[in-house]
Amino acid sequence: MKLVQRSFVLMLSFLCLLSCSKEEEAFVLGSEHTQIADQGLPHICTELHAGSARAFGSKNAFWTKSTLRVRFLDGSAYVRGKVRQFATEWSRYANIDFQFVDQEPSDIRISFDQSSGSWSYVGRSNAYIASNRATMNFGWFTNRTSDREFRRTTLHEFGHALGLSHEHQHPEAEINWNREAVYDYYGRTQDWTRSEVDVNIFRRYSLSNSNYSDYDLHSIMHYYIPRTLVQGAWNPTSNSVLSAADKAFIERMYPGNEDDVPDCHCNDSLPALACEDFELQTQERLETTAHWSKWSQEAGQAELQTYSWGKVLKMQYKDYLNPDVVYHPQNIDSGSVHMAWQMYVGEGSTAYFNMQKNQEFGKEFGAQVYFNQDREGRLEINNREIAFAYTQGQWMEIELDIDADRDQVNFSIQGTRIASWPLTWSARTPEGSLRFIGINFYNVDRNSRFWLDDFCLSRKGSGNDGVPALSDFLMDAGQSIKGL
Ligand SMILES: [Zn+2]
Repeated sequence: MKLVQRSFVLMLSFLCLLSCSKEEEAFVLGSEHTQIADQGLPHICTELHAGSARAFGSKNAFWTKSTLRVRFLDGSAYVRGKVRQFATEWSRYANIDFQFVDQEPSDIRISFDQSSGSWSYVGRSNAYIASNRATMNFGWFTNRTSDREFRRTTLHEFGHALGLSHEHQHPEAEINWNREAVYDYYGRTQDWTRSEVDVNIFRRYSLSNSNYSDYDLHSIMHYYIPRTLVQGAWNPTSNSVLSAADKAFIERMYPGNEDDVPDCHCNDSLPALACEDFELQTQERLETTAHWSKWSQEAGQAELQTYSWGKVLKMQYKDYLNPDVVYHPQNIDSGSVHMAWQMYVGEGSTAYFNMQKNQEFGKEFGAQVYFNQDREGRLEINNREIAFAYTQGQWMEIELDIDADRDQVNFSIQGTRIASWPLTWSARTPEGSLRFIGINFYNVDRNSRFWLDDFCLSRKGSGNDGVPALSDFLMDAGQSIKGL
């Protein structure tokens, strides 16, 4: 998941929102997008929410099943056929099968009422609607509608049905609105009051209770914003196909076709050897994922946690089945690789990892790294010790540059190099294997509590990549070094 979008402060408020706010009253939140209509009039889509699932891409909005039954309430065979044709484009990316049925039960019910615009309930809030009522309406489809318009509006409304909200209300949308022009425009074209414009146009969904990817001007869920409504540079886009981000996001929300789903992406530009952002993981799957092993039979597994912005792995001390896991995507005994991950140590907590050098875990350790309660860290290698400072309560990027050809390891936190040493060194001796197997994470004491995310192992090019030779900073400069 995106690092910049998360903090545990937000997480806590998100959890509270989920558990504390319960709105049983069905209500309507209109938000709209105008598009260039066939007739030149703005076509308005309204997204409707019922029950508690109402936030942008709210976690609650996404269905927990993979087949959705769709029933047409009216409409010509032609327009029905077009809706069916274009709706199924979503199924190429989402693990969702739209089953078109003639009888109840159904999840989505479609009408073609020309008097009420186009709209849809969002995601699972469809389930709150009585079975004799439409959950989606196409207000301007006729037998003369263009395929472009069929595709655009069908994909958009089915996007709502799958749980997506309007992109212009994305938490990170920073549209420099010409506010008075916006009030005027929607007052004239939609008869909206200023407060309705506030809710439908200016209001953005909060970071903390939304599921989202980066703000995407090309999303099918973005509405057409006329040039005059924005100050400064603005290129209005009229989107009629799924954007790359639409496809990626819906895959994430409805995983299951693993063969079709792209792997997670590493942040660096190097060729990725392995990537783990946990987005496709479940607790059950984690138990059988080859590159996530428990240290031993007696060890506990880490806990997969899901937040609005994605999934992370939590390591917390337990008296029984204390988590002790090894991430081992690939054995490295030649060439040069970059291994990075995100790590969050709770306030007043501790954390720990070590480098494993043998497939039989524990047979040979490399460096051991302790993150202590007092925000001091300690790296141990070859009977030496290096102290470093680290920050609690925020995500840190941990990096290991492992160069088997040059027999060198560089260890960095948040871009600051902490230490370097020969790969052959082991915890207690300079005599060891020129090999890297994986990283072991363990809750060493009762205060141990940390989170992990975004593992990436990538292949570096040959050459030294600008990294100084080991002899230049063996065991690093400026840090305290002492024998054990
Ligand atoms: Zn809409």
